[in-house]
Amino acid sequence: MSEVLEQEAKAGAGHAQKYTRNNPYHSNVNVNVQITAEGSEKETRHVELALEEGMTYTPGDAVGIIPENRPSAVEDVLKALGYKGDERVLDHYKVEISLEEALRNRLTTGKLSRGAITQMAKLAPEHEGLKGLTGPDNRAKAEDYCWGREFVDLATDFPGVVTDPQQLFNILPRLTPRMYSISSSQKAHPDSVHTTVRVIRYEAHGRDRQGVASGHLGDRSEIGTTMPIFLHSNNNFRLPENSETPVIMIGPGTGIAPFRAFLEERQVEGAKGKNWLFFGEQRSKLDFLYQDQLEGMVKDGFLTLHTAFSRDQHNKVYVQDRISENAKAVYELLEQGAYFYVCGDATRMAKDVELALLDAIAQGSNGTLEHANEYLASMKKQKRYQRDVY
Ligand SMILES: Cc1cc2nc3c(=O)[nH]c(=O)nc-3n(C[C@H](O)[C@H](O)[C@H](O)COP(=O)(O)OP(=O)(O)OC[C@H]3O[C@@H](n4cnc5c(N)ncnc54)[C@H](O)[C@@H]3O)c2cc1C
Repeated sequence: MSEVLEQEAKAGAGHAQKYTRNNPYHSNVNVNVQITAEGSEKETRHVELALEEGMTYTPGDAVGIIPENRPSAVEDVLKALGYKGDERVLDHYKVEISLEEALRNRLTTGKLSRGAITQMAKLAPEHEGLKGLTGPDNRAKAEDYCWGREFVDLATDFPGVVTDPQQLFNILPRLTPRMYSISSSQKAHPDSVHTTVRVIRYEAHGRDRQGVASGHLGDRSEIGTTMPIFLHSNNNFRLPENSETPVIMIGPGTGIAPFRAFLEERQVEGAKGKNWLFFGEQRSKLDFLYQDQLEGMVKDGFLTLHTAFSRDQHNKVYVQDRISENAKAVYELLEQGAYFYVCGDATRMAKDVELALLDAIAQGSNGTLEHANEYLASMKKQKRYQRDVY
């Protein structure tokens, strides 16, 4: 499955929207601020994008952002290939555009894939270097080569292989939109959609790299610029219909995004159900996203907030540890019918949180792990265990 389809599948089935990824809305950037402090290891931004009347979303939905590759990356590729950028090519719809435009907003030049190497190798079947990176026997070597590299590295390491700019459409995948969980309630912000974006920046193989979409939002989306977007509904991540039902939300890092939306929605509605949020990051002084807003909610008695700042003390503490410390109370809320939500990192956090949850259920019910698994399966069936992980 292509990355965008995978992302959209993860975001859930969409309902009809006027603007789609093929026909995006050119939204004004109203706000774009860094919400991690100077000195943080992370650059996380709060971005507010304007909506046209009639564009609607529900907490739990995502917004698709259609990024452009950064100008310096386009220049680097042109230089590596020996082109000027004004050469003419046909895009995926056979529309004639300049090579510069193709590299800016049609083709993936970041994040090299084995597929790109295989396609490039087809242009020079006798090339020893490329042969060494293709075929089933060289899979691991190719994966190793791809790590931290982009197309510019391939073009630089294997010069002269691309002889016609049109060939790039066979080598490089399409540039795809990126999904971001919506971090606002439209009931609180009728004319805009908010996102909470971690900007990916790193150095690899002697070059400064950045994520395509997060870098675009981080470096080139000042207030007043526009960004092509579309709204994407996700019916698999929804607040309970009954506003008195308690909710337990686990959202470390940018995983906080949909829960800010949930909390704003419940606040506007005057929902009486209990709200529990587990938020985690590295350092409370630098990385406490939406601190004032969340602490205001705590002060109003609207929110119970459990934080886990892993680097604030010698022993690392994560959201799953806070769940374990509050196992009894978590189980009691579940017994009251609470919905349990997890958003954020899929690779480790979501699994560790599930283990802590199972443990809390086993402890609370004086039951076995097997019983806890059955309890969780029944929660899933009732849609009381929902995850939005990426
Ligand atoms: C439903 C859904 C909701 C999401 N919600 C959010 C959200 O609320 N906030 C948010 O920030 N993101 C969210 N994401 C993730 C988001 O869609 C993007 O995937 C993310 O911002 C990266 O996109 P990018 O274009 O900036 O980076 P890309 O250009 O796609 O590059 C990212 C890739 O860079 C590589 N990379 C990263 N760091 C390093 C390193 N140190 N060394 C070598 N390689 C590295 C990795 O291969 C990584 O996959 C969500 C995803 C989904 C599917």
